[in-house]
Amino acid sequence: MTQALLPGHPHVLYRDDQLFVDQVPAAQLAEQFGTPLFVYSKAAMLDALAAYQRGFAGRRAQICYAMKANSSLAILQVFAQAGCGFDIVSAGELARVQAAGGDLSKVIFSGVGKTRAEMRQALQLGIGCFNVESESELEVLNEVALSLQVQAPVSIRVNPNVDPKTHPYISTGLKGNKFGVAHDRAVQTYQRAAGLPGLRVVGIDCHIGSQITQVDPYLDAMDRILDLVEAIEQAGVPIHHIDFGGGLGINYNGDTPPEADALWARLLAKLDARGFGQRQLMIEPGRSLVGNAGICLTEVLYLKPGEQKNFCIVDAAMNDLPRPAMYEAFHGIVPVQASRAQATLYDVVGPVCESGDWIGRERALAVQPGDQLAVLSAGAYCMSMSSNYNTRGRLAEVLVDEAGAHLIRRRETAQDTFALENLLPA
Ligand SMILES: *Cc1c(COP(=O)(O)O)cnc(C)c1O
Repeated sequence: MTQALLPGHPHVLYRDDQLFVDQVPAAQLAEQFGTPLFVYSKAAMLDALAAYQRGFAGRRAQICYAMKANSSLAILQVFAQAGCGFDIVSAGELARVQAAGGDLSKVIFSGVGKTRAEMRQALQLGIGCFNVESESELEVLNEVALSLQVQAPVSIRVNPNVDPKTHPYISTGLKGNKFGVAHDRAVQTYQRAAGLPGLRVVGIDCHIGSQITQVDPYLDAMDRILDLVEAIEQAGVPIHHIDFGGGLGINYNGDTPPEADALWARLLAKLDARGFGQRQLMIEPGRSLVGNAGICLTEVLYLKPGEQKNFCIVDAAMNDLPRPAMYEAFHGIVPVQASRAQATLYDVVGPVCESGDWIGRERALAVQPGDQLAVLSAGAYCMSMSSNYNTRGRLAEVLVDEAGAHLIRRRETAQDTFALENLLPA
């Protein structure tokens, strides 16, 4: 008997009592590669991408994977081979696109704090677009481009001032945050950009937040952006592409975000109604392409019953899975070998010396030391946000495809973690 763990997502499943990632038993992966371990399903990523591709069938649209969600090279390779471009936020990410064989002409460079060196490098490599976030950045990019005797392709990130109804730390399209150019300064900013000889205006972009589970904020943002496109073009600056950013949520804990194709059916209907259906479109999804394609396998080290709480201490920690500590985020936690024994409520915590080091609270589990658990929805913003805190090496990563399991990153050793350090002279 098989049972998928998340509705509509057949890639992480039980066969009888055993957890599988596609055709590979999780217990076998833990045995072969050790724990804690990230495991990703290639088929799950391509399924998530296919929902966007279906949504855009017959349209002029470019999907740029927002690689900060998970920037491991093999994952970039999967998306590059599937025709994606990349949304990057640093020169480091640009170097990863190159290393993974991505198409540099399909790279868009986002972020509020690009340095001159980063601009120079991206211009020399011929990226597709700079998503500029402020008037002062426009001036600097113009100077850098002129110094290289090139024109920088630019889009201006405008802040549509809509509430995406998500966690405040991942809400980015409201007036009070650091992102983008204010809606009421947008026309002026475009006129300025059009007058700078080192810049070539190619588009407009917005990104209103992350883990968005409703359609309305997107529809509102789209209306606000289309109003601006009309005003900017009336002021004499043509806009070639419209980039609606990323942000679509995933099911972590019974969340019900729209499917990408259903979301885009709604958005395209609006674009058509307003006469923008034939424009070149871009999107920058991150989490929704990889989040539910990954799990983290971890071993139970100790059970610690207490007066107020019982603790289940596992070998993964906040440095590996930072989202609970950072955003009080929820990850499902399930046993690798399902058991019918009586469950107990545990706080699942890691070995790090912080009370913030928890992975799940009050979870009903029937476990013993030595058992393995899977932390679900761990494909996005886990490995890419992980650290070496407590001199814990970053985890190994495995990607499962039709040929089996591939080690795409080896586990860091202690020596790896201090390889860049020097002792003082004796
Ligand atoms: C983080 C980010 C994205 C991706 O967001 P998700 O919620 O992972 O889809 C897209 N665009 C920009 C500018 C971002 O900063």
